[in-house]
Amino acid sequence: MRPLSSKNAIVTGSTSGIGLAIARAFAAEGANITLNGLGDADAIELERAGIERDFGVKCRYSAANMMNGQEVAALVREAEKTFGTLDILVNNAGIQYVAPIEEFPEDKWDAIIRINLTAPFHAIKAALPGMKSRNWGRIINIASVHALVASPFKSAYISAKHGLAGLTKTAALEGAAHGVTVNAIAPGYVWTSLVEKQIPDTMKARNMTEQEVKRDVLLAAQPTKGFVTVEEIAALAVFLCSDAAKQMTGAVLPVDGGSTAE
Ligand code: NAD
Repeated sequence: MRPLSSKNAIVTGSTSGIGLAIARAFAAEGANITLNGLGDADAIELERAGIERDFGVKCRYSAANMMNGQEVAALVREAEKTFGTLDILVNNAGIQYVAPIEEFPEDKWDAIIRINLTAPFHAIKAALPGMKSRNWGRIINIASVHALVASPFKSAYISAKHGLAGLTKTAALEGAAHGVTVNAIAPGYVWTSLVEKQIPDTMKARNMTEQEVKRDVLLAAQPTKGFVTVEEIAALAVFLCSDAAKQMTGAVLPVDGGSTAE
């Protein structure tokens, strides 16, 4: 028996990066998985089938768009219908946009708040009744060090992630007497496409070269001078699902090479 072999998990935004690593780590522990996210249909099918083949679990894919609250709620309902229960919910889907507040496009603000903050609210709202009724649940919100501290030019993302920390604590209090833990992981810079894609905008906003952005903006903020890996984030998510973590709830846990210690 693998530790999560009786559990069913949703990981939003799991077609790449941190979400995909968490989905694969849960599957390695025996959980059935609902993948979600954007991307090329053939590439997603390869990942889905790969998870079933590599780990001997069931893995399905939902194209629910995190911009749409009804689709988020349906994602939870359909996972419950397919697997019988939803035991683990990871709110991971996220987008970023970098610009000074005076130039920040309103549609980007709205999209970031919807995907990074409102979608987790809808997913938690839909998932809590089933988890409470079975007296067991694990909700993990992938926040950011930007849930704890700010930096310029990321107003929407930082507002959403601070909000997600507040949602985490509130949901933790509401789930506490029902065996449901709710925690947030707050990564520093993890080398994924989300980080790679913000380099050109940061170069423009700060008038820097690519090398300067990597050295003076990204790794300058991490005393270890290393990027966090997706596997390190996934390992913490697996731990939060274990019995050893049942008294951990309402925490916002940095994995950031020491950046928020400064
Ligand atoms: P990524 O771009 O590789 O993954 C983002 C995922 O979200 C993808 O699967 C994408 O398809 C999905 N997604 C985006 N918009 C969506 C939508 N409308 N509906 C459904 N899915 C959607 O980036 P990542 O770095 O793996 O980011 C994952 C999470 O980690 C995000 O919440 C991000 O804010 C957070 N985070 C990342 C870092 C980092 O350095 N990479 C640091 C701190 C926090």
